[in-house]
Amino acid sequence: MKHYRIAAIPGDGIGAEVIGAGIEVLKALARRDGGFAMEFESFDWGSDYYHQHGVMMPADGLEQVADFDALYFGAVGAPDVPDHVTLWGLRLAICQSFDQYANVRPTRILPGIEGPLRGVGPDRLDWVIVRENSEGEYAGQGGRSHRGLPEEVATEVAIFTRSGVTRIMRFAFELARSRPRKKLTVVTKSNAQRHGMVMWDEIAAEVAAEYPDVEWGKELVDAMTMRMTLRPETLDTIVATNLHADILSDLAAALAGSLGIAPTSNLNPERRFPSMFEPIHGSAFDITGKGIANPIGTFWTGTLMLDHLGEPEAATRLMRAVERVTADHAFHTPDLGGEATTRKVTDAVVAAIDGDNE
Ligand code: NAD
Ligand code: MN
Repeated sequence: MKHYRIAAIPGDGIGAEVIGAGIEVLKALARRDGGFAMEFESFDWGSDYYHQHGVMMPADGLEQVADFDALYFGAVGAPDVPDHVTLWGLRLAICQSFDQYANVRPTRILPGIEGPLRGVGPDRLDWVIVRENSEGEYAGQGGRSHRGLPEEVATEVAIFTRSGVTRIMRFAFELARSRPRKKLTVVTKSNAQRHGMVMWDEIAAEVAAEYPDVEWGKELVDAMTMRMTLRPETLDTIVATNLHADILSDLAAALAGSLGIAPTSNLNPERRFPSMFEPIHGSAFDITGKGIANPIGTFWTGTLMLDHLGEPEAATRLMRAVERVTADHAFHTPDLGGEATTRKVTDAVVAAIDGDNE
């Protein structure tokens, strides 16, 4: 029997609530499947750890999780620690050190869920956003001079490398090719950002030549927000820079009904390092401890992890259970306009897994 070792990093706020639910569901799935086992080890890194130790994770933290088959991550962010400390100290430290350069974010409208777009259901909105996850605007370069003085200057440097852009383009074209519509939209801003984004456009055209079977086109990021909202059916696979895709994927999540539903994976496609799987939302201090966090994003994230581990049948079974549950309004949490708790949704998904006879 195959045996997967997963490092769980719940992090802050509702991160612990949704990852706890996700582990329960994945264990139920392994039990139901019988063909594999999942073992979870939890790491208590995050803002509480920071308050005690002055760092978000131990110095050898990356080594501690490097040999796991995958990382299952909740969220980071606390009201009393600056966001750039929590983000760079844990989540980005993992993504960058493990070269998880492809961030993949599927977006669909699940059964029973109504998005804010009138008349737009699952038949008109089915996207995968590929976010460049290792460089670009979040390369972490730049600085400030003359701190606190009137002549103070702050720079924020975006870095695009030929190898970095080429590998994410190739990843996006491969993904587009694997989907039924074989269609890719390359997001850009080369009218205003005339160095990095112009190179991005050039490399897109070069890589496209290797994929004659993929229909591709370009869209400026500002126009892209309109197209996503007004003509969602014209999009399928989408590739964008670190910053642009960060913003577009929150929009995508909202258009699909709620931030609480959306999943993501941070992949090291070469598998030299473990990949990391997480819901896209943050620690949501406004609802922490109330037991009403929507765990669906974390469950859907679990299907991405199972696919990556090589358990596509289990992934399909889990998605089927999730969709069976979202179809019923009685299992909608408050972010979806319902009254269900995290507990109630989790129990329903476990029951759907146990009762799945397909
Ligand atoms: P957020 O995603 O935490 O919350 C935004 C809104 O969506 C809130 O009203 C919240 O209640 C709601 N929401 C989010 N997830 C939900 C869920 N599963 N169920 C129900 N409602 C949900 O974003 P924010 O408020 O901008 O940020 C809060 C903190 O999280 C900040 O410290 C921020 O830096 C951090 N953050 C972390 C990540 C991450 O770890 N990947 C991502 C985004 C934000
Ligand atoms: Mn974001």
